[in-house]
Amino acid sequence: QFIVIEGLDGSGKSTQIEMLKDRLQGRGEACWLTAEPTELPTGRFIRSILRGDVSADPRTVAALYAADRIEHLHHPSEGVLAQLAAGYHVISSRYYFSSLAYQAEYADPGWVASLNLYAKRTLPADLTIFLDLSPEQSMERIESRGAEKEMFENLEKLAHVRESFQLAFEYFGEGENIWVIDASGDPVEVADLIWEAYLGLGE
Ligand code: C5P
Repeated sequence: QFIVIEGLDGSGKSTQIEMLKDRLQGRGEACWLTAEPTELPTGRFIRSILRGDVSADPRTVAALYAADRIEHLHHPSEGVLAQLAAGYHVISSRYYFSSLAYQAEYADPGWVASLNLYAKRTLPADLTIFLDLSPEQSMERIESRGAEKEMFENLEKLAHVRESFQLAFEYFGEGENIWVIDASGDPVEVADLIWEAYLGLGE
């Protein structure tokens, strides 16, 4: 199964991905964890833009994310399709809904959506989890981890991204299995909700 975890920064994606992996492995299932932007060349280039080492027009950035996603799908060894074919459950931190939430803020949303139709047609996730958190809680968690790269996040921007995710699920999520899960509670309770969603796949 291909499982995607989406959410604002601080929503607990990494923690939940580890917990889901542990639960799956506990049942004897093999897992492969991955993330966007990837560690492949296009993804590394995007990270250098995110760090501010290189500057690029937002439309270029949107195109780069879509290109990185194509690599993410098709890379012969590190690709999602290859890992699924090898019998792994693939859990990805972020996929195309992140592009609709983040890149569509600076580039035409319709165009960003069209750039991402390829991935949606090629491999929609079996399950997409959105770890939902209020902008205030997200900010609190970002501040508590003191992450430098997120210094420029502010409440208004977080609220906008959250809203963009909601719109993306509504307008781009057709036919998909999307669960919006309250991520404000105890991590084990959140993991239980994700597990429930996962078990639903077998029904
Ligand atoms: O998931 P991670 O913490 O690595 O993401 C870091 C940042 O990358 C996000 O806060 C967001 O600014 C950016 N990002 C983005 N568009 C994506 C994926 C990530 O702008 N499609």
